[in-house]
Amino acid sequence: MTAGKNYDPYDFANRRHIGPSPAEITEMLDVLDVPTLHALIDETVPSAIRQATRIDFGVSLSERRALDKLRATAKKNHLLTSLIGQGYHGTTMPPAIQRNIFENPAWYTAYSPYQPEISQGRLEALLNFQTMVVDLTGLEVANASLLDEATAAAEAMAMARRVAKATSNTFFVDSACLPQTIAVVRTRAEPLGWNVVVGDPFKDMGDTPIFGALFQYPGVNGDCHDFTPLINRLHAHGAIAAVAADPLALTLLKPPGEMGADIAIGSMQRFGMPMGYGGPHAAYIATRDAYKRSLPGRLVGVSVDARGNRAYRLALQTREQHIRREKATSNICTSQVLLAVIASMYAVFHGPRGLKAIASRVHRDAVRLAEGLESRGFKVSPAFFFDTITVEVGPYQGLIMKNAVDNGINLRKVAGNRIGITVDERTRPDIIEAVWRAFGCYDLQYSEDWPAPRLSPDLIRTSEYLTHPVFHMNRAESEMTRYMRRLADRDLALDRAMIPLGSCTMKLNATAEMLPISWPEFAEMHPFVPPEQAEGYRELIDDLSAKLCQITGYDAISMQPNSGAQGEFSGLLAIRAFHKSRGEGHRNVCLIPASAHGTNPASAQMCGMTVVVVASDREGNIDIADFRSKAQLHAAKLAGCMITYPSTHGVFEESVREICDITHYNGGQVYLDGANLNALVGIARPGDVGADVGHINLHKTFCIPHGGGGPGMGPIGVKSHLIPFLPTHPEIDGNGHTVSAAPYGSASILPISWSYCLLMGGRGLTQATRVAILNANYIAKRLENAYPILYKGVSGRVAHECIIDVRPITDATGITVDDIAKRLIDCGFHAPTMSWPVAGTLMIEPTESETKAELDRFCDAMLGIREEIRAIEEGRMDRLNNALKNAPHTVADLIEKWSRPYPRQAACFPAGSFRVDKYWPPVNRVDNVYGDRNLACTCPPVESYVTKDEALLTETAIGSP
Ligand SMILES: *Cc1c(COP(=O)(O)O)cnc(C)c1O
Repeated sequence: MTAGKNYDPYDFANRRHIGPSPAEITEMLDVLDVPTLHALIDETVPSAIRQATRIDFGVSLSERRALDKLRATAKKNHLLTSLIGQGYHGTTMPPAIQRNIFENPAWYTAYSPYQPEISQGRLEALLNFQTMVVDLTGLEVANASLLDEATAAAEAMAMARRVAKATSNTFFVDSACLPQTIAVVRTRAEPLGWNVVVGDPFKDMGDTPIFGALFQYPGVNGDCHDFTPLINRLHAHGAIAAVAADPLALTLLKPPGEMGADIAIGSMQRFGMPMGYGGPHAAYIATRDAYKRSLPGRLVGVSVDARGNRAYRLALQTREQHIRREKATSNICTSQVLLAVIASMYAVFHGPRGLKAIASRVHRDAVRLAEGLESRGFKVSPAFFFDTITVEVGPYQGLIMKNAVDNGINLRKVAGNRIGITVDERTRPDIIEAVWRAFGCYDLQYSEDWPAPRLSPDLIRTSEYLTHPVFHMNRAESEMTRYMRRLADRDLALDRAMIPLGSCTMKLNATAEMLPISWPEFAEMHPFVPPEQAEGYRELIDDLSAKLCQITGYDAISMQPNSGAQGEFSGLLAIRAFHKSRGEGHRNVCLIPASAHGTNPASAQMCGMTVVVVASDREGNIDIADFRSKAQLHAAKLAGCMITYPSTHGVFEESVREICDITHYNGGQVYLDGANLNALVGIARPGDVGADVGHINLHKTFCIPHGGGGPGMGPIGVKSHLIPFLPTHPEIDGNGHTVSAAPYGSASILPISWSYCLLMGGRGLTQATRVAILNANYIAKRLENAYPILYKGVSGRVAHECIIDVRPITDATGITVDDIAKRLIDCGFHAPTMSWPVAGTLMIEPTESETKAELDRFCDAMLGIREEIRAIEEGRMDRLNNALKNAPHTVADLIEKWSRPYPRQAACFPAGSFRVDKYWPPVNRVDNVYGDRNLACTCPPVESYVTKDEALLTETAIGSP
């Protein structure tokens, strides 16, 4: 045993994160026939790109010491009650949801639901979300979440341009929209050559031709209007009406759909998800049925499985970037699944009556607050409001704001000597009295008497919502707990098995890293508090940024983008602004390899760039000759290139420096997609290799869990010359480009990545990279005789992932990657990435967190499947009726009369599957075509719950209300 050479066994924090034990590492190296881990890295990573110095973060911390440090940092955030509003509100996450979803790895470690058979639980929760949005907005279809309200508004504008008959290039934005929304909308419009006109729609919407408009209620200062007449005018000119609306207000107010709106957007934050210094929260977008094919993002639909039973899956995927690339409806990939699940459960938990009670109480308290101030002579507006008022304060603005802070309350400064106040679910009598004191009204006392409402009479909602039984289950917590448990049990997440998805880095999300995000000092902070109240966040963001700079070789980091795709968009905007600043604004060609992730071309398109596709050679490397000739051909207009390193083919290309040089020589900038940083940390730095800018997916390499398809964080790093072109935010630092509603994106999940760095230290992070590469090479070695490994580096090694080629098998037997993926479900695994970056292949990324035992279980499963395929090849098994084509197998299969040409035992308990802890998929193979042909995107009516074997699914108990 030479364990000591590969690992320091006393590094306990690291030891928990890294799967293989020192002894296992040695065994695996023996299989690979290399003496040490270092030797493996020497063989794998070209010496020309290796970094010169080690990462040094000082000593790594134990879990307890890391948590102590996090606690000390959290204490530097001074948590006041924020009545700032402006899109962020106090809310209470019901404890049942906090413990059973937010803090439950069965929910937060799941992957995006692309394999529907193992995702029925979260798909049902997302269908509930869509149903809730459709009901509240009065529209016909809703997607399963967007990143935040501001990007949802930008998506609404882009969607309006796609569907409007009007030919204008101008979009009108209500000045009552949130300032951050206006900033993000402007950012999105500018590169596409669209004009944004901001004004009072009742005065300024005039005669200029526009393709659409965005209105908001309640507006930033509390106004609530019926936009029906404006919407009718828009429609008369072939323009599209989008309305931003607060979902809590919609329980009391006439919804956008009833005003005739074509699109509704908004934030679901106040449905149970704390403000988190800006995020993450789910945004929603809803539209008319006629426009569903133009919706951005993921859409859950109802379909049937192989038995004809109901099953959920993602619908109309051909709209999305992973298929449509630069012609996609948006670049959105990671969205906000966990947060959408939480919002939907908040609605399930409270039901329509509970929600209405919360909204009514919020409104009553806003009225009480206003009446108190009015009784002392203050002028309050608007006359009608839901939760937000502004108060005229003359020269006393500064004084009252300060008084408020001294009373533990943040209010909002409003231009024209006014102060804004927004009441929320958590507002209590003592808070209202504290506000009164800030205004000098010391003698006012809160009274429980119900004041007369101040909702505009013509805006009162009369229509029903949330009528589906799922929102009417028995209010007992036992019922709710079991519902959440049942849904979780239908899904296969990292808490049960390895998820070997290539390019997705489904690694351990350690509990110690997760704990701090529940702490109020991180969770409950409003993003626009005065900076001196958020020193803890400042320290955390600065230190994490410094660490990420050290890891990547970039000179500065922006935490604003809240997904990798948003990072791409933001980074390309920086490149664009850089060229412009040098009088080269005409540079708009972006070279992108054919193998690039779909978000790359989709993001380039959003920046108004022309995508030129570069070929790959037979080894999967970028075809240098093709790259050079295209760079030269477009030299005069070259904006840059987007590359992924190590490549999406899972190899360290020797030529990466050359690609960067060619790009620079021809006047372009290099964007490096950082999705594969897990193969680089501590070993090579994008900034040294020649990249100018790139994103870092913190939800891949840096341990933020995938949440079933979000949240994420995609901060970008830049070299110094691009620092002036990093995103800015209207609440902080002015008017560059703004890509997220909040200045630091989804700030409240940053403690996860920071904890990871503290726990691992520089050595641990580097060891993680080495072991990630070891694990991938181990799998490649064990599988190579059964399945050809598609691409290897010059030394015959792969990077942190490997691609196995299934095309010869498909040609010989008709067995496809899909069949193997579904058969892996029987074995208790999530499938690897299918048919990307090469059709007909599977891409496997084990990450460093998987133990040798789990890797072996996966390899055994894959080898077992290979033997099943061999039986078909050799004519011993039917080509259509076999365990692969019939996979996955359910309990319904097991108990039926058995007439298949393979034994029951083999069907349900193949190699790799557990006996006692067997994962049983709740549905058989899901029919995608049927689902798209018979599109249904809201909860099915109850009558339909009584079909065939559906008893299993419909146990989703809907008790008596
Ligand atoms: C995951 C990924 C992205 C996009 O990241 P999101 O956070 O999902 O937007 C981009 N490129 C590659 C190669 C990826 O694997």
